[in-house]
Amino acid sequence: MQNKTGRLFLDHASTTWMDEEVRAEIDKVTRQIGGNPSSIHEEGRRARFLIEESRETVAGLLGLRPSEVVFTGSATESINSVLQGYYWLTTPLTTFYSTLAEHHATTETIEFLGDYGARFYWLPVDQWGTPDIDSVTGPALVSLMAVNNELGTILPSGFLQELKKKQVKIHIDGVQGLGKIDMTPYLSADFLSFSGHKIRGPRGVGLMIIRQGNELKPLLHGGSQERNRRSGTEATALIAGFTLALKKALKDQAPVSDQIRSVNHHLRSLLHDRLPSIRVNSPETGSPWILNLTLFLPDGRLADGEAVIMGLDSAGISVSNGSACSSGSFEPSHVLFAIGQSTEEARSGLRISFGHDQSLSDVQRFVEALYTVLSRQF
Ligand code: PLP
Repeated sequence: MQNKTGRLFLDHASTTWMDEEVRAEIDKVTRQIGGNPSSIHEEGRRARFLIEESRETVAGLLGLRPSEVVFTGSATESINSVLQGYYWLTTPLTTFYSTLAEHHATTETIEFLGDYGARFYWLPVDQWGTPDIDSVTGPALVSLMAVNNELGTILPSGFLQELKKKQVKIHIDGVQGLGKIDMTPYLSADFLSFSGHKIRGPRGVGLMIIRQGNELKPLLHGGSQERNRRSGTEATALIAGFTLALKKALKDQAPVSDQIRSVNHHLRSLLHDRLPSIRVNSPETGSPWILNLTLFLPDGRLADGEAVIMGLDSAGISVSNGSACSSGSFEPSHVLFAIGQSTEEARSGLRISFGHDQSLSDVQRFVEALYTVLSRQF
């Protein structure tokens, strides 16, 4: 899909446009529900009702109990709440297992807790970012992504059964899986984190799932909201918008994912025909929504990734070299390092990530533009 400016946006894994009905719902709730959900008056009760109704809907859609659903401000907050909450519950005996191919919300939080005495182990990963979980022993918390946000690799769901035999707690970062792949097997984890803005919902809302029988110390204090698990006045309108976005994403998941799979296959085959020196870093069995490339030139040299991203940008096409960086600077992806790539290879990485209405002609336009931009470096 080209957006209204004629630009082609292929960076939907970083964030994506809000669904129009979701926007209308947020607008309606903002105008109609003004009370604080903790207030006992009519306006407060209406806000409380909407939040609890949203919680029940989200729980129903994911096959959970409403009491297991905690609304947060982002997936980053959710991940921090799980990891730091587990730390405060178990310190000085805290042990984490994760990988360096996770999102920085996970790796940097674990490293931060390491400074305060938590033991942590980075599991080895293969070329797709899939971890080797053999060395895991409990008691510990294992934190892994269901879908790698840069490579699209899907965590084998059988790992959850294997990990359960090891008496560990499991946290799944499900941000890039929700509404895109079948998340059912991952919902048996002890804790899960999700984000609103990756499923055409609003930015500023996320989910923390705490499955029954599990406990965490709260990260935020100062109110008793969310059953004492996340203090702070709830974002009523964003929660309602998130709930509608989730409903729509799950309803459309099968047909839309099929369409995206065909777009992904088309891109792979166009690249194979037109630019065969490019290496695809995403497994065929991965999420169809993400395709990661290393830009080898026909003579075997590596292309300058930053120049390619800027060249494509001038041609009206937005792609990235990995997850969005807070500083906006061009940093080689830590995930590509984690899977064993050199700095030069990581600097030639490109991540294409699709939106819900991406078409075959979009990837045709992308490949032609990529050819033109790359040929300046031939
Ligand atoms: N985890 C993964 C896998 C992500 O892709 C992202 C966002 O890029 C996050 C966590 C953080 O999500 P949020 O922007 O809601 O904090």
